[in-house]
This record gives sequence, C-alpha cells and structure tokens, in this order.
Amino acid sequence: MPSDANALLIAATGEDPVPYRDALRAHMPDLEIHAEGEAYDPATIGYSLVWQPAPGLMASLPNLKAIFSMGAGIDHILADPDLPGAVPIVRLMHDKTREQMRDYVLHAVLHYYRQMDVAAAQQAGGAWRFLQIRDKAALPVGFLGMGEMGRAAAAALAGLGFTVMGWSRSPKDIPGVETLSGEDGLAAMLARTRFLVSVLPATPETVGLLDARLFAQLPEGAVVINLGRGNHLVAADLLAALESGQVGAATLDVFDPEPVPADSPFWTHPKVRLTPHIGSDGNAAICGIAVSENIARMARGEAPAPLGDRIRGY
Ligand code: NDP
Repeated sequence: MPSDANALLIAATGEDPVPYRDALRAHMPDLEIHAEGEAYDPATIGYSLVWQPAPGLMASLPNLKAIFSMGAGIDHILADPDLPGAVPIVRLMHDKTREQMRDYVLHAVLHYYRQMDVAAAQQAGGAWRFLQIRDKAALPVGFLGMGEMGRAAAAALAGLGFTVMGWSRSPKDIPGVETLSGEDGLAAMLARTRFLVSVLPATPETVGLLDARLFAQLPEGAVVINLGRGNHLVAADLLAALESGQVGAATLDVFDPEPVPADSPFWTHPKVRLTPHIGSDGNAAICGIAVSENIARMARGEAPAPLGDRIRGY
C-alpha cells in the first residue's frame, strides 16, 4: 500500500546529501532517510527530495507520494521524460527564500539607481566626479514574473518609492505595483522599464525570452537583472546589446550551463556583474523545515504546498 511507504530518498545531483539528512532528522527523528547511491528498497520510498534527479529514478519508486524540489523551480524535475504522472511535485517555498530574493533584487536595483557601477569605474580610473542623484520614481522597475519571488521584491521597491510594474501570465492586483499581462502588457512595460528584473520560471514559453527583440523594446541604457533561469537569456544578444549601449549593464545570477565555463565573456565583462546562483538559497535547513511541514500536512490528509503544475510547467 502506498500509505505504508514512508521513507525519504535524497536524490540531488551535485549536492552533498549529509546536511539535508541532518536537517530532515532534526525535524523528523523517526523518518527513514536514504541517499541515492545507498542500498534501499524502492517500495519503501514515499517521498523524495530532489535536485536534477536522474531520468527514470522517480519512475523506479512505485509508492512515491510526493516529489519535493530543493528549489522554487520544477524545470529540473520536469526534464525527466519518464516522470511518473500522478505524483505531486512540491516547490520549495519559505518566508526566508522570499526575503533572500527580495534582498538580492533590492541590492541590485539600488546599486544601479545610485550609480555605484559608475562610481566603481571612476575609482578604477582615479576620477573624482560628482554623480547627481536621480529621481527614483522616474526610473521604473519592470518585473518579468509576479510569483512568490517577484511579488515580495516588487512590493519592497514600491515601498521605497520606485515606480514598479510587474508582468505575469494572469492579471494580478498587487498594491503599489502596476500589473500587466499578455503581449501588449509586456510591450507597454518594456517601453518604460529602466531596471528589468526577471524572476520567471523556465518553460517552453519563457526560454529565450531575453533576446535582441526584447532588449530593443527597452529604453536605451536600461539595466537587465536575470534571476530566473540561464536559458531565458540569449547570451550573444545581451553581449551585442551591451556593446551597442542598448542595454547599459547587467547583473546575472543564473546561467546556462552552470557553473559558467571559464571562457565565458561574462566573467570579465566590464558591464556585467555575475553571481553564482545565490538569489535565494533553499539550503538544507530551509528544506528541513519546509519538507517536514509538508510531510506532516500529508499525514493529516492535507495536500502539500505549494504545488508545481506540470501543465503550466512551473
Ligand atoms: P511562481 O510560480 O510563484 O511565479 C512565476 C511567475 O511567472 C508567475 O507570476 C507567473 O504568472 C509568471 N509566468 C510564468 N510563465 C509566464 C509566461 N509565459 N508569461 C508571463 N508570465 C509568466 O514562481 P517563483 O516566483 O517562486 O519562482 C520563479 C522562478 O524564479 C523559478 O521558477 C526559478 O526559475 C527562479 N528562481 C531563481 C532563484 C535564484 O536563486 N536565482 C531562486 C528561486 C527561484 P502567473 O502568476 O500568472 O502564474
């Protein structure tokens, strides 16, 4: 019976399972936990905590009741062509991860708004030149994606006095944020956006969205901040837009592939700030809290949350 399968399998490509096991144990001392590569009976596995699970692995667990993602995105799970159809996929979400993303976005937008990039270039050249402080309300921030990650950051920037717009698939009502959707909504937002922040999930509709066509719709010199996924960005198009000045600067946290290859021009580009996928960190401690809360929910007969949607792809 599926209900008897209550062990958890950690299947995380490139991650050390030990801190995850420790964090899960701290909340659920009686939980039987295995890591991929150890001996286990597939029939006993009811839950799996995963990052880029090997294709076919989830299908090999006949009594699986939930797949917990180690991140907010589920693209790394949906990439498995043999993924079992009926098992719920649970995204990692916690107040701390929303807060971390909000802080990253605030830092990035404030950096460019207060021209810290210009000041750094001046310092490198030994130049002392006053930088006039611009009116932040006249430098609108446009968000691609108004989900868990985008909303907290957008609301915080609006609270600081920025003009904030947010684009999403379905219309939204968010206090202090002008929300838009559809092709027309995107075009209207881009035409005014000085700081573009992408926190979209990777789906067939969004892959490659950050391309020359999109950059051309921004006011000249706009800043691009990508925190969604690396495959949203057409790297050659961004490099050309930086070269022409159409895009003034970029902060990139996600790449395709990761880690960024040693010969990538992003490492040394003077107008690019590169960070190693640190927008938010669904670390072991947060996984321990979120997964244990969801397993308790399921034990009470409730659905785990938040659920990823296979059809939408996020
Ligand atoms: P959510 O599912 O909560 O929100 C996704 C948002 O994107 C929603 O507003 C959704 O619209 C919108 N969206 C999706 N597809 C489209 C589309 N085709 N056109 C317009 N809008 C679209 O996800 P999260 O906010 O939790 O996370 C978003 C992504 O951020 C993750 O999938 C991941 O890729 C990335 N991420 C990156 C991190 C990092 O460290 N850099 C950390 C965490 C997440 P609607 O509201 O209508 O559904």
